[in-house]
Amino acid sequence: MRILVVEDDKDLNRQIADALGDAGYVVDRAFDGEEGHFLGDTEPYDAVVLDIGLPQMDGISVVERWRRAGRRLPVLMLTARDRWSDKVAGIDAGADDYVTKPFHIEEALIRRAAGHASSELTCGPLRLDTKSSKADVDGTPLKLTSHEFRLLAYLMHHMGEVVSRTELVEHLYDQGFDRDSNTIEVFVGRLRKKM
Ligand code: CA
Repeated sequence: MRILVVEDDKDLNRQIADALGDAGYVVDRAFDGEEGHFLGDTEPYDAVVLDIGLPQMDGISVVERWRRAGRRLPVLMLTARDRWSDKVAGIDAGADDYVTKPFHIEEALIRRAAGHASSELTCGPLRLDTKSSKADVDGTPLKLTSHEFRLLAYLMHHMGEVVSRTELVEHLYDQGFDRDSNTIEVFVGRLRKKM
C-alpha cells in the first residue's frame, strides 16, 4: 500500500508519515497543494491523506480536480475538530473520509496562528511570547539571541515530550547546517545558564 501525505505543517506531515510508515505503508510526502495534486495525478497511490489549508492550491481544489479528471483514489481529508463547514465542503468536493487532527497538534497550530488565542507559553516561572519574541523568568527578562529564542520556543511547544538532538537540528536549522557540529549543545548550555 502506497500512501501520499499532503500537509504543509512539517511536524504534522512527519508525524503522520511516521505513523503510517510504522504501520507498514509506503509513504510519499508533499507540502503544498500543487505538488500534492501533481503526485496524485501521476503516481499510483492507494490513498491520500490531504490537508485542507495548503499553500499554492487548497485541499478542496485538489480533490475537486482529481475527481473532475476521473481519478478515483481514496482521499482522507485532514480537518480540525469541529470544522463542520470543512467537512461538508470536503464531501461536496469528493473526499471519502476524514481524519481529525489530534488535539495536541491542533493546540500547537492554534498557538502558532497569528491573531488567534494566546501567543504566550508558560512553564513554571518561565514565560515566552512568540509574537513579541520575549521571554522572562518570574518577570525578569531573559536576554536571548534569536537562535536561543527559537530553541526555547521549540522546547516549550513540546513540553512534556522528549526532543532529540536530531529533531532540534532539523527544526532550528536549514539543510545547509553542519549536523555534526556541536552548536546545539552550546546553545542548550547557554540557555540553561541564562535561565
Ligand atoms: Ca495546513
